[in-house]
Amino acid sequence: MYINGAWCTPKSNATFDVFNPANGKKIANVADGTEIDARLAIDAAGSAFPSWSKSTAYQRATFLTNAHRIMLSRKDVLAEIMTIEQGKPLKAARNEVQYAADFLLWYAEEAKRINGEILPSTRPDQRFMVLHQAVGVVAAVTPWNYPISMITRKIAPALAAGCCIVLKPAEATPLCAIEMFKIFEEANIPNGVVNLVTARDPKPIGEEFTTNPTVAKITFTGSTAVGKMLACQAGAHMKRISLELGGHAPFIVCEDADPVHAAKGASLVKFLNTGQACISPNRFLVHTSAYDAFIDTLSTRVAKMKAGSGFEDGVSIGPLINQAAIDKVNRQVTDAVEKGAKLITGGMQLTEGRLADGHFYAPTVLADVTPDMLIYSEETFGPVAPIIKYDDNDDALAMANDTTYGLAAYVYTQNLGRAMHMFEGLRFGIIGINDINPTSAAAPFGGMKDSGLGREGGKPGIMEYLETKTAGLSI
Ligand code: ADP
Repeated sequence: MYINGAWCTPKSNATFDVFNPANGKKIANVADGTEIDARLAIDAAGSAFPSWSKSTAYQRATFLTNAHRIMLSRKDVLAEIMTIEQGKPLKAARNEVQYAADFLLWYAEEAKRINGEILPSTRPDQRFMVLHQAVGVVAAVTPWNYPISMITRKIAPALAAGCCIVLKPAEATPLCAIEMFKIFEEANIPNGVVNLVTARDPKPIGEEFTTNPTVAKITFTGSTAVGKMLACQAGAHMKRISLELGGHAPFIVCEDADPVHAAKGASLVKFLNTGQACISPNRFLVHTSAYDAFIDTLSTRVAKMKAGSGFEDGVSIGPLINQAAIDKVNRQVTDAVEKGAKLITGGMQLTEGRLADGHFYAPTVLADVTPDMLIYSEETFGPVAPIIKYDDNDDALAMANDTTYGLAAYVYTQNLGRAMHMFEGLRFGIIGINDINPTSAAAPFGGMKDSGLGREGGKPGIMEYLETKTAGLSI
């Protein structure tokens, strides 16, 4: 753990094991912190806050650009650790490191643009001044699926805003977090500004985060169930909260879209990170006229995808994170097939040869999916593409919005009016229009409904770490 600028062991001296999901082998043991360690880290952040929040934006930006530079020079090491610990193919891991580093640079620049305002008043002898100031100590909880970018997407804007932070990374991927904190240490970020507590059991740490009076703000990325629970706990203490939770993204292929182009996009975005992404398409709504061509192209591409260790050449399907993830996928696929879906390719756990010790599932395409199937409404978080046929665009929009989630949605159409209609009508925070990667450090990312609260990235991403103050000034 990294607390107050020093690497330390937990008060209990306990450790927990970290495993490689591609072969089940133990790769490390890591400090198993408790609420006692979380409290020490929060105290350190609280002590560092007065001077960090008073430093200039230019000073804070220098630390962030230092971290950005070191991070890029370590790209390969970070990517290798990610592949060992999380399983994604090395090339995808490198892409994630680049995306993660982008946040450090973008917010180093944005720190200098936390502008106030002077507003006119109805009274001639009055002016209003508006000022944005750091909220205070931030407690962050991050997931295992994007184990580095989810850290910088929170830490970069928090630090740029003048906040100090305590991070608890996911228990499956603490090594990525440790490597990032070595970078923060080398970037000379002052003691107590960034703190890391690793733990096997997140619950007591979450309780400490949401109840400790020094913590002003919680930022969480993970499941909707845990997010709602943390929001309830934080609400009792009126702490600010940002939540980036689950999704159930529709991917709509309209009658005027090129079905082959759309299927190529679908094959890339659906199977990225083996489907373990909150913005992964979870329902493909395909117009009748494009249906057969879409399925043909998609299934031909999917059948050729190679599963295996992320270190092997040509592998695009890494392992799922654990057996529970495999069981969830299996349950959804079995349920769909029992209810009449057509299994076009895949549909089983892969256990042959070197795959036997990992958690691999064959990339899968299911056609003729209907609303009574679990996969129509449950998030999958695995490599399954369920395809639903539709005739009418308004029905497709209604089906797309027929979910408790509201994170990402994708639309393929060559009709500009229809694209705009979909953009405006979809109740989702991030929309890809003929685009499978609608994300960037510069663009707001976040969801509606059960997908969360607040935005990360872009200007809104730093506002999450700022309070707005107004002064009325009589002149
Ligand atoms: P997933 O099912 O994808 O692992 P989780 O929401 O369980 O999603 O995990 C995301 C993050 O939330 C991880 O860092 C995990 O340790 C943390 N987490 C899980 N349960 C709790 C909890 N009760 N309090 C605080 N953090 C939690």
